[in-house]
Amino acid sequence: MSTDTKYDVVVLGGGPGGYTAAFRAADLGLSVCLVEQANRLGGVCLNVGCIPSKTLLHGAAVIEEAEEAAEFGITFGAPQVDIDAFRTHKEGVIEKLTGGLDQLAKARKVTRVVGKGAFKDTTTLTVEGDEGSSEISFTNCIIATGSHPFMIPGLPEDERIWDSSDALALKFVPKRFLIIGGGIIGMEMAQIYSALGSEITIVEMLDHIIPPADKDLVQPLFQKLKKKYTILTKTKVTEIVANDSGIQASFEGAKAPEGGEYDAVLVAVGRRPNTEKFGRENIGLELNDKGFIPVSEMQKTAIPNIYAIGDVVGEPMLAHKATHEGKVASEVIAGHKSAFDPMTIPSVAYTHPEIAWMGLTEKEAKAQKIDYNKGKFPWGASGRALSSGAATGVTKVLFDKETGRILGAGICGQNAGELIHEAVLALEMGADAEDISKTVHAHPTLSETFAFAAEIVDGSITDALPSKK
Ligand code: FAD
Ligand code: NAD
Repeated sequence: MSTDTKYDVVVLGGGPGGYTAAFRAADLGLSVCLVEQANRLGGVCLNVGCIPSKTLLHGAAVIEEAEEAAEFGITFGAPQVDIDAFRTHKEGVIEKLTGGLDQLAKARKVTRVVGKGAFKDTTTLTVEGDEGSSEISFTNCIIATGSHPFMIPGLPEDERIWDSSDALALKFVPKRFLIIGGGIIGMEMAQIYSALGSEITIVEMLDHIIPPADKDLVQPLFQKLKKKYTILTKTKVTEIVANDSGIQASFEGAKAPEGGEYDAVLVAVGRRPNTEKFGRENIGLELNDKGFIPVSEMQKTAIPNIYAIGDVVGEPMLAHKATHEGKVASEVIAGHKSAFDPMTIPSVAYTHPEIAWMGLTEKEAKAQKIDYNKGKFPWGASGRALSSGAATGVTKVLFDKETGRILGAGICGQNAGELIHEAVLALEMGADAEDISKTVHAHPTLSETFAFAAEIVDGSITDALPSKK
């Protein structure tokens, strides 16, 4: 079956990149068809990524905060967790959001096609759905097929060996839980399952957890978690064997035990782009040496009417990168002068405490031999942090020695994921330490710590001793 309509834009994939591109294109007056193989829009982010993980992390935070309140004299009984109700709550949040997307698509008259799309040629997509096969013609196409979890080759097939989607499904709470990979997924899942009662072991091959962030920024989180978890850094898993009693893992690393037995194992060692099985070969679209689809700042691929966005075009694999790229692709197709050229894409680990960073990290500044001034404000000197039980946090800001402008910032502490955006705006606006110091921040807030870190570099700090000249 083929449709008579030739769409201005067909979007392949309905994740945050794809649905944003489709909606923006429709708002710019283009006829749009959105092809998604799943019944629900939202892709990884809404269905098995950002949203379910944050919903479960919120539950975990409530449990942890209630426990920690004992430090200031408020104690509760042990939490009673109804795991089925918790899972249902998570599903409800997803349904609300994906249902909202259906309405937004309908209101914009975006044609929805449910099925697996593949290029027949550079102006036709074949879609295989429950009701058979159809062909869709287009003037332009935006590829937004996303990514999938990378599984370590050679692992046994066993339902106790999980990827992130299995972990978010809350199948059961393993008593002994091994997490391979101390990146963002590994640490967020550890936080969820630890609050639910699992004993956590994390194996990370590099020298600290959440390796892209500066080590000093991760310290407050690490110091807290190491009291509760076994964290094996500079360690690799060499063998996994599934037995009736559990999953046996062998390790290799300086301080690693020889091995252990676990009730479930989460593999969280990164994701790979979805670049196969959509007829890429039929249009001659090549990949770069990292396996991503190469694109220009206008999200154009090497084929003039074909664009690509989101996880399939490169790191960082983040929803907010995908949505911004989606807007750019549609704006370019609509004839606007648009390009994806942000000064930074912020990263947030929604752990407790949260870790957020943007711009250059200190290790990147050092590697690039950029001279910088650093302001580092410990939250132990912040009234709001102390009164909120968040005294272990830290805010660090780097300024270019030559231009004075902000280069990067990192925050570890409560709400770091919200606080980081002031730094992102400062970077986009080219602010220097004086600009930030003289911006009046309400008291007492955690936001003040950003201003205090800038005041340290500006030389105007009064909430701490000024640094020696
Ligand atoms: P995806 O969301 O992967 O969507 C791609 C869509 O394309 C899918 O729906 C897929 O079914 C569809 N598709 C693929 N091939 C075809 C085809 N041939 N035909 C039809 N449809 C097809 N990012 C953040 O920014 N913040 C977070 O807090 C965060 N948390 C995360 C937590 C977890 C556990 C995981 C796994 C990821 C998380 N991410 C987070 C990453 C984020 O989910 C991704 O970066 C984001 O979803 C990428 O969007 P996308 O549109 O490129 O692709
Ligand atoms: P990741 O690349 O962030 O972390 C993987 C970790 O596993 C790294 O620290 C790496 O050193 C380690 N590792 C790799 N191979 C290993 C091995 N054999 N043994 C031990 N350790 C090993 O990947 P991820 O945590 O799987 O997440 C994938 C992507 O999903 C992220 O890059 C991110 O873009 C996205 N994500 C974002 C968020 C968020 O924004 N809050 C949350 C979850 C996921």
